[in-house]
Amino acid sequence: MERVLWTDEEDKALIGAVASGLAARHIDIPGRSLHSIQTRLHRLDIRPSSLTGKEKGYALRKCLSCQQTFGSEHIGNRICLPCKRTVDHLAA
Ligand SMILES: [Zn+2]
Repeated sequence: MERVLWTDEEDKALIGAVASGLAARHIDIPGRSLHSIQTRLHRLDIRPSSLTGKEKGYALRKCLSCQQTFGSEHIGNRICLPCKRTVDHLAA
């Protein structure tokens, strides 16, 4: 069972590992299985392939709308994907 919530520290370690170019299978977070790491990456909307050197601004940020932590591609991106979709939908 992998129901234990990820802590901010674990998320930061995960982001740091991904940002440094590690593939998910090479990321070692104590107590987290590869499956758990991959699931977490998906939840945070982090795609390791998109994290190249130029993506230095990539970090975990809190969504201004729902307060959920998410993987933000640059400092101006403060709305998570689900909220962004909602906003786009409402604006359309
Ligand atoms: Zn949100």
